Amino acid sequence: MFNNLSDRITASLKGLRGHGRLSEADVDKTIREIRRALLDADVAVPVVREFTGKVRERALGEEVSKALNPAQQVVKIVHDELIQVLGGATGELHWSKNPPTVIMLAGLQGAGKTTLAGKLAKWMKDQGHTPMLVAADLQRPNAVTQLQIVGERAGVPVFAPEPGNGVGNPVLVAMNGVSNAQFQQHDVVIVDTAGRLGVDEEMMQQARDIRDAIHPHDTLFVVDAMIGQDAARVAEAFRDGVGFTGVVLSKLDGDARGGAALSITGVTERPILFASTGEQLGDFERFHPDRMAGRILDMGDVMSLIEQAERTFDQAQAEKMAGKLASGEDFTLDDFLTQMQQLKNMGSLKKMLGMLPNMGQYREQLESFDESSIGRIEAMIQSMTPAERRDPKLINGSRRARIAKGSGTSVGEINQLLERFKQAQQMMRSMGGGMPGMPGMPGAG
Ligand code: GDP
Repeated sequence: MFNNLSDRITASLKGLRGHGRLSEADVDKTIREIRRALLDADVAVPVVREFTGKVRERALGEEVSKALNPAQQVVKIVHDELIQVLGGATGELHWSKNPPTVIMLAGLQGAGKTTLAGKLAKWMKDQGHTPMLVAADLQRPNAVTQLQIVGERAGVPVFAPEPGNGVGNPVLVAMNGVSNAQFQQHDVVIVDTAGRLGVDEEMMQQARDIRDAIHPHDTLFVVDAMIGQDAARVAEAFRDGVGFTGVVLSKLDGDARGGAALSITGVTERPILFASTGEQLGDFERFHPDRMAGRILDMGDVMSLIEQAERTFDQAQAEKMAGKLASGEDFTLDDFLTQMQQLKNMGSLKKMLGMLPNMGQYREQLESFDESSIGRIEAMIQSMTPAERRDPKLINGSRRARIAKGSGTSVGEINQLLERFKQAQQMMRSMGGGMPGMPGMPGAG
């Protein structure tokens, strides 16, 4: 996400380096470049105008002229102002003191509401909440079934209309869903509503009727970041037609140019609370304006990376491994396999690596990174006998051929794996188990 925008803004800021003092012309040139990059990324014109105006004012002001390193000072100003454009402080949900907290989802058809409902529910469940989903999208064929599937994946109950009971009446279904959640003592209930392909009055009326019947504590407007410039216009229509308290940007994993993220808060004055970054339940994150600005400026987002790692890595597993190594036991191929599997859990490696600082320069290598190689490693290790996994020295030529055949790989790949494993093992020995690292990551290509 934001790759192109990020490359262009960082390139123009780099152009300032090496200048001791900055002239007005230097600043203006950089601002022009940033302005063009933002417009090309589909950021709404009034937002671009305000942003560049503020950056210019500050960059030509005392802040920079007195600074020891003017170029860095300009980077800081751009960073600060990007955070403001993205909403300033991280937005919060309005949790109700009298549960259940009612959250209504609104947005166009295909925006990603149903998918988001599952992601949000899982995220809440992981934090100890007891969410229930309500299928009040009766417009789209299969929407109810889709929500049921998503709910099952998330391990969260779904309230859906039973034949003969409120069928065809989404307001009734929503109301029944909320009272059911209350009765069953769920502390949060997420109501999925219908969208249309375009903004239309009937849909707005239905959303308003549902809103007035269930009094949501939060109405989240879900918008597909790929629709670019249209996002701001659709957001305005929903703000005026239904009203919402927060925004969720979906499909930020696609080649979204960033316009939606950078325009929506400025245009609607509502915070972006979450970002959806893929089709899987785990492809979901809180939206932190400061971290996102850091990503756009290629400063990296180490905080999000750590959080994702914490969510995914099994702490007990890691401690077990550390304890084992500390006690002098050797790192085996089974341990290697476990680490690889955890790595796979971490969702897209590319996404993860992209959160590290200064990765822009490695983008091409990252793009060519082949995650399926982890699946192959898994297959190879699983084709080994327990004795071989404990003691890879046993794996001679004929065993290599057998393992390659069993795993559908080649002897060359087995050789490569064993070589990588050896390096990982040496690294683990030298660390004495101090840190459950991620050795021997499969290389690019
Ligand atoms: P709804 O009509 O608003 O309920 O939208 P859906 O949840 O059915 O999503 C529409 C399509 O977008 C589905 O094919 C989803 O799998 C896909 N989708 C949803 N969120 C994301 C996302 O964050 N990234 C990607 N790549 N696809 C998504």
